[in-house]
Amino acid sequence: MVNLKNKKHLFFDLDDTLWDFEKNSSLILKEIFVQFELGLKLQTSFINFYKEYKGINNQLWSKYYKKEIDKTYLRNHRFNETFKRFNYSNYDENLLVTEQYLKRSPQGKILKKDCIETLMYLKNYFQLNIITNGFKEVQDIKIDSCGLRPYFSNIIISEEYNLTKPDEQIFRLAESFSKTTKDECIMIGDNLESDIKGALNASWEAIYFSDIKPNDFKGYYIKNLRELKTLLT
Ligand SMILES: [Mg+2]
Repeated sequence: MVNLKNKKHLFFDLDDTLWDFEKNSSLILKEIFVQFELGLKLQTSFINFYKEYKGINNQLWSKYYKKEIDKTYLRNHRFNETFKRFNYSNYDENLLVTEQYLKRSPQGKILKKDCIETLMYLKNYFQLNIITNGFKEVQDIKIDSCGLRPYFSNIIISEEYNLTKPDEQIFRLAESFSKTTKDECIMIGDNLESDIKGALNASWEAIYFSDIKPNDFKGYYIKNLRELKTLLT
């Protein structure tokens, strides 16, 4: 493997790499589940509701990235389709749930373990940046709610440029923003497809961040953000 210590620019994914999407999102959904009395209406537990919602949400995001549906469709149908799985139909209530979720979820303040401490350290050695797939107004709120913005030189949000990871062009765009070349760039993220394969395909180095390392994974891997300190400096 190549030496990572002579690189100059780090590019972080946002959701579930810095900002704990899983924890922030499930916390707010649980509040909304109680507030709208969905346990009674859907005759199910929060755990079952959340499991169904996540599956449907992932499917709709895949369709969105393939440009088969637009942003409004994604937002207005993920709860409605979850409701339907439990034989509950109320489109207007679905819109109210959607509104509450969109308003409250990005304000979550839970970051991945040791996030700020690691960024403070790495900032002494590297230019730090973010490349995130998502909607501009949502990602901006997340970044500001938990005080991440001051650590980063460039923040690239896919919707703004109509490019999404793993498209090679978003990595080329990131190089131009940082006035650098592929040889000096490292991507750090939790998604094997969009972050890791995307970066490797753009001839960058990549570090996979996950609780579990797949058996056949041969690249750089960390289980905790703190490990970046020893891996990179
Ligand atoms: Mg992610």
